[in-house]
Formats: sequence, C-alpha cells, structure tokens
Amino acid sequence: MKVSLAALDRGEVQLREQIAPDDPMWQGAGVDLAAPLDVELAARSVGEGVFVRGRLRTTVRLACRRCLTSVDNVLDEEVDFFFEPLTEEDEEAEGEVYPLPARGDELDLAEAVREQLLLRAPEFALCSEECRGLCPQCGTDLNTGECECVPEQAESPWGALKNVKFD
Ligand SMILES: [Zn+2]
Ligand SMILES: [Zn+2]
Repeated sequence: MKVSLAALDRGEVQLREQIAPDDPMWQGAGVDLAAPLDVELAARSVGEGVFVRGRLRTTVRLACRRCLTSVDNVLDEEVDFFFEPLTEEDEEAEGEVYPLPARGDELDLAEAVREQLLLRAPEFALCSEECRGLCPQCGTDLNTGECECVPEQAESPWGALKNVKFD
C-alpha cells in the first residue's frame, strides 16, 4: 500500500486496494475479517507532511458475548490521518499522526491503515438484543432450546420462616 512521494509532489494520489482476510498484515492483530478490507484513500502533500483521507470497508467477525455464535459486523468508516516528519522527541505522537520517513521515495500506508481499522473494529457483539445466552450450568444455547437445569434460587427472605416452629 505504497504511495510514491514524487507522485505526491505532482498532486493528489488515489489509492484503491483490497487486503485479504488472511493477509500477513492481520497476524496477531486480534481481528477476524469475514471479507477483504476495501481501502479507498486519497493522499496529498500538505506543507511538510502528507494528509490521507478516505474510507475503509470490511466485515468483522465476532463472537456474540452471550451465546458465542459468530456475528458479522459490517464496518464502513471514514478515516483521515496525517504523516509528519517527526523528530526523535515527537516519537510518541499519538492518534492520527504518523511519522513520515526521512528517507525513501515511497510512503507505506499499511501500518496506519491497520491501526485505523483496529481502532474502529468493535470489540463486542450481540447476535440480537434478545439473545438469551448459554445456560451457566450446562452450556445449552438457550436460544435454541431449554435445558433441564433448575436455576439456582436466590435465598428468599421468607425462607427462614419455614424453619420457625409456631407452638
Ligand atoms: Zn447470542
Ligand atoms: Zn442448563
């Protein structure tokens, strides 16, 4: 996902790419893509830096936090970020600013795109608001059927009365 700096000097550079869900870029990212990532970006020089904006589209697969069923979440996000020639002290610049390499004739957007996607990928999902989840005792998916477990009764405030003998 590289942009030629010489081309940037001449004007805006458009970039369209698809990154497969099994691309090494996602290794260890902790995100499970159910579709390729569609990258549509436009980069242009601004002062000493490079401004990039565009759109990221994909489908993120998550497990429902209650019943663990796979849930596909469509992600369609506008992004913008900036590359700046950073000095050593700025190294910790956070958020949407990335270091512009001092040397080289290409700017690689891959790492920034990866980070922008991870920032926007949801962490949790529910298959539906009404999801009944799994039985905590036997693990039956309560959306598909009942189980034989007796729910553990909370101690009733009247329970103790049953043991009181009235003469
Ligand atoms: Zn669920
Ligand atoms: Zn059960």
